[in-house]
Amino acid sequence: MRFELTRAFLLKGLANPRNGPSYATPPNDRIISSNIFDLLHLARVGILDFLFPKYCVNCKKIGSYLCGNCFSYLSFDDEKICVVCDRPSINSLTHPRCQTKYAIDGVFTSLAYKGVVKKLVYKFKYNPYLSDLKNLLIELFYEGLIQKEDFYRVFSKDSVFVPIPLHPSKLKKRGYNQSQILAEELSKKFGNRVVNLLERVKDTKTQAGLKKDDRKKNIIAAFVLKRSHLDQGETLNGKTIFIVDDVLTTGSTFLEAAKVLKKGGAKRVFGLALARD
Ligand SMILES: [Zn+2]
Ligand SMILES: [Zn+2]
Repeated sequence: MRFELTRAFLLKGLANPRNGPSYATPPNDRIISSNIFDLLHLARVGILDFLFPKYCVNCKKIGSYLCGNCFSYLSFDDEKICVVCDRPSINSLTHPRCQTKYAIDGVFTSLAYKGVVKKLVYKFKYNPYLSDLKNLLIELFYEGLIQKEDFYRVFSKDSVFVPIPLHPSKLKKRGYNQSQILAEELSKKFGNRVVNLLERVKDTKTQAGLKKDDRKKNIIAAFVLKRSHLDQGETLNGKTIFIVDDVLTTGSTFLEAAKVLKKGGAKRVFGLALARD
């Protein structure tokens, strides 16, 4: 699988600067000249890509966020784990014996959170609007999912994507929610709707560095259903929901979010994460 994906990406030109999209940083005179064509071009590819030179997150080679050579170090995630008990599960779904009324039904992840993936996700976390970086990660997220038969068995076009929300104070400080960006971009690929059905009401400590039990305690009661969509006639009843987040660590965030959505009437809830730690 790893080889096939690598080859597919190289063919698409996503990882190879020489075959990559033809909008490399233009010389200064092109930025200064403000004819309409240039403006449209800047708007289309995202002006930030021009302001920050692209270099490989791993070896610093100029040209792309992941050079063709370092692309081969990418590791896709093929672990299949029940996030309730943390033990292997043959289909990435929650074991029948671990399933309770409000438990999550399964979790799918695309990449293994180590090496170059860690560097890419870190860069994305702080520069989510670098469109080439975002596009690369979305391609990887998407490709990692569509390779999984287990995912396709439970996925359908009318499933709804729900991003893990940030607390409003954190959102204000950061200006964006990377899970929201991932959910929106992924929805364009799959053709599914994104609905912000969750609201974060507890300004939790960052989960990084906490042990599993502390993470669980930290995230308890962090989410509630967001009334605005429900008041406008959106319903959870009978729906299949895919919660979207960037990195899966212990699964506590997914478990807590799934509980809220299921209590609200969702039929089935799964988690999708870009990478598994
Ligand atoms: Zn490199
Ligand atoms: Zn289990």
